[in-house]
Amino acid sequence: MEIKKIRCSLCKSLNNGFVLNHYNLKLCRECFPNFFRKRIQETIEKFKMFTKNDIILVAVSGGKDSMSILKALKDLQYNIRALHIDAGIEKVSEKSKQIVQEFCEKEHIPLKIIKLQEEIDLSLKELSKISKKPICAVCGMLRRYILNKEALGQTIVTGHTLNDEVSFILKNMIFWNDELLSRIYPVLYEKEGLSKKVKPLCLITEQETRLFCEITSVKYFDEACPYRSEIYELFKKIVYEINYNFPGSIIGFYKGYLKRVKKFYSETAKETFLKKCKNCGYMTVSDLCSICRLKEKVLQYKHG
Ligand code: AMP
Ligand code: ZN
Repeated sequence: MEIKKIRCSLCKSLNNGFVLNHYNLKLCRECFPNFFRKRIQETIEKFKMFTKNDIILVAVSGGKDSMSILKALKDLQYNIRALHIDAGIEKVSEKSKQIVQEFCEKEHIPLKIIKLQEEIDLSLKELSKISKKPICAVCGMLRRYILNKEALGQTIVTGHTLNDEVSFILKNMIFWNDELLSRIYPVLYEKEGLSKKVKPLCLITEQETRLFCEITSVKYFDEACPYRSEIYELFKKIVYEINYNFPGSIIGFYKGYLKRVKKFYSETAKETFLKKCKNCGYMTVSDLCSICRLKEKVLQYKHG
């Protein structure tokens, strides 16, 4: 974001800072981090995500979004632990793991690292071939599964931002994926087999997470994953462009969606989408969850 001489809307000083068009605010470098933490605190309270008595498991990839929420929750003195999943992707995984490790050591945050291959001992490339799904999809599926298993009743925090949420809604509207659309909310409540998942950055843009990391000197991994799906990139770009041209529009769209989602999809309809996997108990839309189905295919593949 461009640094300009501005009159800060909070401390009123004439200082170097930024124009945050979507909030109609000008903030100086000194005031921005507190503003960012305050917005997170307000989101946590508004959606009753968790309290200072809960143990929170933060899923950290090493990117700017999850690093910024990890740092903000630490500053706000929440009881946090970090979990990093090592996807075993050449260079990318090694570098991001190192960033997470160094940060957690410095900030005294307990960290657990799990290798994706601990769940299924094959490379993502092989799993993609066996499942006939793109690498990005298989990786995401396994990450969500491991995270849920690891959380065991604790609340999971992810670094999903407003940009992520709006991209996800638009994409699932274009393809009318009702099952996914019905479950979009800043808090996903704990159910049998599923841990409570929360997104404290759901009202914060990626411009802001980047700014927060830069001002508070938090290192993050800034390279795109080589397997990132094109469709994901496309929707992220569209959302960025919409917000750039119409500042504040995506937050309005997201809040509007949250107001309507319960009307669009009644509770009973939501329940019918999900049931327990017969094998592992994970919530799924069919008899066996996608991971158990993949494991079956892997067995067939290994035994010819
Ligand atoms: P993404 O699907 O890459 O947009 O990531 C969304 C969120 O999932 C991130 O903000 C993290 O909270 C979490 N996440 C992604 N990758 C990892 C990982 N390798 N280990 C732990 N959490 C992750
Ligand atoms: Zn299963």
